[in-house]
Amino acid sequence: MPVDRIKELVVLLNEANYNYYVLDNPTITDQEYDKYLRELMTLEEEYPEYVLPDSPTKRVGGEVLDKFNKITHQIPMLSLPDVFNEEEIRDFDTRIKKAGINPEYVCELKIDGLSVSLIYEKGILKSGATRGDGVVGEDITHNVKTIKAIPLKLKQDIDIEVRGEIYMDKETLTKINAQREREGLPKLQNVRNAAAGSVRQLDSKVAAQRNLNNFIYHLPNPLSYNINKHYDALEFMRSLGFRVSPYNRLVTSIDEVLAFIQEFTEKRESLPFEIDGVVIKVNDLNEQNELGFTAKYPRWAIAYKFPANDVLTKLKDIVFTVGRTGQITPNAVLEPVLVMGSTISRATLHNEDFVNSLGLMVGDIVEIHKAGDVIPEVKCAIKERRVGTEKPFVMIDRCPICNTLLIKKEGQVDYYCPNDACPARGIEGLIHFASRDAMNIDGLGDEIIEDFYNEGFLKTITDFYYLDKHEKDILMLEGFGHKSYQNMINAINNSKNNSLEKLLFGLGINGIGSKTAKLLAEHFDNIDNLKASSIEELLEIKDIGDVLAKNIYDYFQTHEELIDELKQIGINMKYLGKKKKINENITGKKFVITGTISFMSRDSIKALIEDYGGTFAESVSKKTDIVIVGDTPGSKYDKAKELKIPIWDEEKFKGIVDELEK
Ligand code: NAD
Repeated sequence: MPVDRIKELVVLLNEANYNYYVLDNPTITDQEYDKYLRELMTLEEEYPEYVLPDSPTKRVGGEVLDKFNKITHQIPMLSLPDVFNEEEIRDFDTRIKKAGINPEYVCELKIDGLSVSLIYEKGILKSGATRGDGVVGEDITHNVKTIKAIPLKLKQDIDIEVRGEIYMDKETLTKINAQREREGLPKLQNVRNAAAGSVRQLDSKVAAQRNLNNFIYHLPNPLSYNINKHYDALEFMRSLGFRVSPYNRLVTSIDEVLAFIQEFTEKRESLPFEIDGVVIKVNDLNEQNELGFTAKYPRWAIAYKFPANDVLTKLKDIVFTVGRTGQITPNAVLEPVLVMGSTISRATLHNEDFVNSLGLMVGDIVEIHKAGDVIPEVKCAIKERRVGTEKPFVMIDRCPICNTLLIKKEGQVDYYCPNDACPARGIEGLIHFASRDAMNIDGLGDEIIEDFYNEGFLKTITDFYYLDKHEKDILMLEGFGHKSYQNMINAINNSKNNSLEKLLFGLGINGIGSKTAKLLAEHFDNIDNLKASSIEELLEIKDIGDVLAKNIYDYFQTHEELIDELKQIGINMKYLGKKKKINENITGKKFVITGTISFMSRDSIKALIEDYGGTFAESVSKKTDIVIVGDTPGSKYDKAKELKIPIWDEEKFKGIVDELEK
C-alpha cells in the first residue's frame, strides 16, 4: 500500500534528519537519504491525499536545540532542490524559459558544510545563526567569532545580513583526525559533520581549535543596496571584506553551466575543500522575484549533486552461477541502487575467499563502489549497521545445477563443477557463442537459448547452424512467429561472415577474452596459421604468457573436428579487420586526455590513437606515457606536471595528427 510506504519513509527520513542536523551524526549516507526523499516525493505527487503533516518534504533542515538561544530569520533560509543529471539541469532551464525569461546563470561550487546567517550593524558583527528549521536558527555568535575568515568589522559601516557556508578544509580534517587518533579519540566522520559539530558547541574554545573556514554566497536583501544582479552582490560582499569563492562564474547558457560542472567534476579532488555539487542560480534579481519560491525551495536555483562512486545498499542474498568452464561464482543480489547513473542489482563476489575476506553476511548493508565505466564491486560490509538477523555466508559443495560434487584445483581459489555434461556449462557456452562480442547473433537471447537447449535443438555450438531443421517445432513454441523465426535464421546466417576474432572469442577458449581474440586474429590472419602455430610462436605475441599460450595450443590440438565442421558450415575463418597501423609516437603508449581539444572530439581522438595501437586511461599515474592537454584542463594536468609526464598541448597534438593524415 502506498500509504504504508509513505508513513515508513516519513519516519525514516525524519529520524535521519534528526541524526544529521541535530546530532551531527548521520546514520545513513547522503545517497540513501536522497534516494528515499525522491521516492517519498514521487509517492506524494501521485497520492497527494496521503501527504502527512510532518513530511520532511514540507520542511527545511532540522530542529533547533534548546541549549542555544534562538534567532528568527528576517527572511527564511531555504534549501535547494537537488538535481542529479544533465536532463534535470536542462529541464530547469526549459522551465525558466517557458516563463518567458532568457537567463544568465551564476555557477558556484556547492561546498559541503553548513549554512550560516551573519548580521552586521554599522559594519560590526552582531550575530551568527544556523539555518535551523529555516525560520528559526540557533545563535552561534560565540563560535562564529572564532572563524578567521569571517570579518568582525566590515570595510563599510553598514547594516547588512549575509549568508554563506561554514566548512572545514580537507587538510584540517586530516590533521584533527591524526591528532584524535593519537589521543585515542574516535575520528570525525567527514568535513560536513566536523564543521557542524564544531559550531554547535557551547564552549567556543572547541570551535576555535577546529580552524573552520567560510565562504559567503548570498545577500538576502540586495535591492536595499541598489544591486539587481546576484553576481554583483557577490562582488559587493567581497568588497566589504567577506571571503567570496574565487570559482564563481557568470555564464549565459545552460551549455556553459554543463561545461562548468564537467570542469569541476575533474578538478574536484584537487580543491582544498570538499564539494558535493554545483549550485546554479539565475543572475537577475528581478527574474528571481518573478520565478518566486515553493515552501521549501527557491524556483530560481538548483543544486546539482555529483554522482557518488560509493553507495550503500542491502545484500539481499548470495547466489551461485556456473560458468561455461564449470567455474562457480558467488554473486551478490542487491537491493537495486543507483551508482554513477546506472542501477545496480547484482555484483560478482568472485569466489569464496573474496566473500570471506570481506566477512560478508547475507542481510548486511554493503558499500558498492563503481568508478567510471568500471564494473561495480562490493567493497565492504558496514558492520555497525548489523541488526542481528544477518546470516553467515556458506560456500556450497555441490553444483547448484547438476548436483555434482565440486572440485578445487590445486593452488586455485575457484571451485569447479567437473561434470562436462552439466546443463549450466552447456547453456553458458552457447550463450557466450551467440553474445554480442562473440558471434553477435541477434534475436537469440539467453532465455531462448536455454529453451532450445532444454528442447534438444541446441547442444553444441555447431547446432546453431542446423536450427532450420527444427523450424516446425520452433514455430510451435510460445513467442515465435514466422517473422521472428526468419529474423533469427538470418542473424545466424549473417554470423557466418564475421571476422575471425569473433569466432575465436566465441569458442570459449580458457583465458581468451575479446581483446586477446583480436590480437590473435590480427597476428595470424586466418585460423589455419593459428592452428599450426607452436607455443613458442604464440609467446612472441605481446600480452600472451605461458598459461595462455598453452591453453590456445591445447585447444587447437583437441578441437580439430569442431573447427573442420565449422569450416564446412561456411563460417569465415579469416581476419577481416584493418591491420594495425604503427606510429612510433603512439603505438604501445598509454594516454590520458584532459580539457577540450578544439579541432577534434574526444571520441575521435580515442579512435585515432587506438587505431595506432595506443591505449587510454582515466587518470594520470607513473605508468602514463603522454598527457594530451586541451583548453581548461582539469587536475590531471597538474598531476602530469608533478609526475613530469610528457605533455602534448593542442599545437603539438595537431602536428602529430597532420603527420598521420599525410
Ligand atoms: P542541500 O544539499 O539540498 O543544498 C542546500 C545547501 O547547500 C545550502 O543550505 C547551503 O548550506 C549549501 N551550499 C553550499 N554552497 C552553496 C552555494 N554556493 N550557494 C547556495 N547554497 C550552498 O542542503 P540541505 O537542505 O542542507 O541538505 C539536504 C541534503 O543533506 C540532502 O540532500 C542529503 O544529501 C543531506 N542529508 C543527509 C542526511 C543523512 O542522514 N545522511 C540527512 C539529512 C540531509
